[in-house]
Amino acid sequence: MKFVTNKLQTPANTETRLVDPFGREMNYLRLAITDRCNLRCQYCMPAEGNLLNNHNHILHFEEMEQLILIFQDLGVNKLRITGGEPFVRKGLLEFLKRVNEFEGINSINITTNAVFIGDIISDLEQLKIGSLNISLDSLQKDKFIKITRRDEFEIVMENINKAINSTIPVKLNMVVLAGINDDEIISFTQLAKDNLIEVRFIEQMPFSGGPASESILSADQILDILQQQYSLLYEQSLPDSTARIFYNPGYKGTIGIIAGYSRTFCSSCTRLRITSDGMLKTCLYDRGAIDLKEMLRSGKTDMQIKDAIIMAVQNRAKDGFESQDRSIQYSNLSMAQIGG
Ligand code: SAM
Repeated sequence: MKFVTNKLQTPANTETRLVDPFGREMNYLRLAITDRCNLRCQYCMPAEGNLLNNHNHILHFEEMEQLILIFQDLGVNKLRITGGEPFVRKGLLEFLKRVNEFEGINSINITTNAVFIGDIISDLEQLKIGSLNISLDSLQKDKFIKITRRDEFEIVMENINKAINSTIPVKLNMVVLAGINDDEIISFTQLAKDNLIEVRFIEQMPFSGGPASESILSADQILDILQQQYSLLYEQSLPDSTARIFYNPGYKGTIGIIAGYSRTFCSSCTRLRITSDGMLKTCLYDRGAIDLKEMLRSGKTDMQIKDAIIMAVQNRAKDGFESQDRSIQYSNLSMAQIGG
């Protein structure tokens, strides 16, 4: 990876904040707590699954907690727990309860396929969950099975209903696949009519190990489909949001579009990511800036780790295109390893 050689100017201390060269302050950390998943979504991984890391190559919960505390000291106040499928990892609920006590963390968010959440929603209601993002790519059983390569439609729908009826804010994420589920865009938006949820359409990104697929429908094309259906679609502007949010009069919920492939939101992106094997990514499109697991396991102090993180943020690319250019080629990681 080609780094811009910025000199580290500020030693880590409690006042240090993670500000990149473009003035964006990193306050949001996405942590992929496992690379294992119970589904095999076609756009995410091959039918036989990804090559999995040995358990010892995945961060332990104690290591994640140490890292969250370090990031908290550096100004991170929002967490997202993702995977793989986070709920396939044993001990997740206990981990969440411990992290819930971290004073600097204001909101814990989770991205899940909802297969395993049915029995724990009331536990999650006790935590500071900012949002539960549930991935659902079809409202039709046959198509769901075709996309996910698993027969879990009924339980997912049942658990989505439970989540919507809980006190936890719910977002429904649909990856739009041209010719496969784009005919369901309007049916999905109608879920926001009577439910106080955000229905979000995500551009497919080239993170399945292969090149960008022909089935990518751009954010603009998705918006065109919505505008043809709804003449009165108002846009809400939210700072630091990767989604463009729209509301339709008379709808309880909102509609979001995430241009993850077009990368139109980079100028306000304040996200850092840690992959399940402990690589810090300062952009979804980079190949990893620091091996945090190696730093932890080789006995580096918190102060040394903080300095390395500050340095990585000071080298952060302007946008996802620059990150991609700095990398030799697209990262061949799957989203199940990066965490989406
Ligand atoms: N297992 C959880 C789930 O299903 O939500 C969390 C991990 S999953 C990798 C996180 C998100 O990334 C999901 O919404 C998934 O649809 C999305 N995702 C995976 N591969 C993608 C791709 N190639 N392009 C766009 N989104 C993708």
